[in-house]
Amino acid sequence: MSQVTQVETFILTIPRTTPYLGPLGPGERVNSRGYLVRKGNGTLYPTVDRSVVVRVTTEDGAVGWGETYGICAPRAVCELINDLLAPELIGRDPEDVEQIWDDLYGLMRVRGCFGGFHVDAIAALDIALWDLRARSQRVPLWTLLGERQYEAIPGYLSGLPAATLEEKVSMARDFAAQGHTAFKVHAVVSHDGIVEEMAALRQALGPDAELMVDLHWKFNCEQALALAHQLAPHQMKFIEAPLKPEDVDGLIELGRRSPVPVAAGEEWHTEYEARLRLSGKSLSYIQPEMGHTGVTQFLRITRLAHAYGVQVAPHATIGGGLFMAASLHATTVTPGLWRHEWQHSIFSRSLEMLDTDMAYRDGHYHLPTGHGLGATPGPAFWDHAEAIG
Ligand code: MG
Repeated sequence: MSQVTQVETFILTIPRTTPYLGPLGPGERVNSRGYLVRKGNGTLYPTVDRSVVVRVTTEDGAVGWGETYGICAPRAVCELINDLLAPELIGRDPEDVEQIWDDLYGLMRVRGCFGGFHVDAIAALDIALWDLRARSQRVPLWTLLGERQYEAIPGYLSGLPAATLEEKVSMARDFAAQGHTAFKVHAVVSHDGIVEEMAALRQALGPDAELMVDLHWKFNCEQALALAHQLAPHQMKFIEAPLKPEDVDGLIELGRRSPVPVAAGEEWHTEYEARLRLSGKSLSYIQPEMGHTGVTQFLRITRLAHAYGVQVAPHATIGGGLFMAASLHATTVTPGLWRHEWQHSIFSRSLEMLDTDMAYRDGHYHLPTGHGLGATPGPAFWDHAEAIG
């Protein structure tokens, strides 16, 4: 292919009325920069949906699109791309995308940039290079990634963003009536108690519904183990992200002792982080996030999971739909898929930003069929995007 000649960055901002994860809880407030700290896990969240989008252009005028997290301090990611990464990407051939990931990661290795914004920035560029490669061959991205395993990708409903337990149960009943069968709640906003919420949902949804809870890295190993024993009678599919990300030994230990299967991995950026946890051979599910991993690391992480016999349940997060499209392409070639997360409060609004036939219906994602990602920014995107030089 011809070489990369230009890299541009954009911040996409999509307003929302109810903050992500639900209305403000007791003691929570929006600060002067539009963020709030969830008391449940001490984590910062924005009050808008936001991401960083990149456009990579080659000498012959071909274009590829990529996207990464921009929910917090999006200008930091743009600066990393424009100041550090783009000058090293310009002149490279998109065909070498996997080597380019390794080279860009290596630029800041000795400074301790093993994840975080630096690797997010690489993920956006990586997705754009894969998009360019597939577009140049006039094929959907997945055809470059492996053998297609699924015609449609089963999803699960993530989040019941209502203020009270009663309203959450009512919302879950409405979704169940529409045919949804797998539900995950976010413990960080379980103001009436995690066990109480699970008990109420199990009672409302019946024995066949699949129930999961995202614990948002809140606990230590012993606390999580005690909670898992309380949750076990409610036939949970898994508990997610139970421990602080730094507690690798604790996570492995919990996986061994928990009566409920353990899922983790949405915050991992690389195969290196994945290997540390998977080598303990106790996790039941991993949850790679395309916005952090890019296509290259998503594939390496899921291949590792397959080697360890661990099921894959890809994560979905706040974004404009481009890295979501990339995630579907990579997921459809992933053996050992359980279900892909479906963020109903985000996905449909992201579609409004794109020209794409990507869809979610009847409990399944349907891959976009166009070349490359099969998704490009549409007219509404440009009404919500700001170019960052
Ligand atoms: Mg999660």
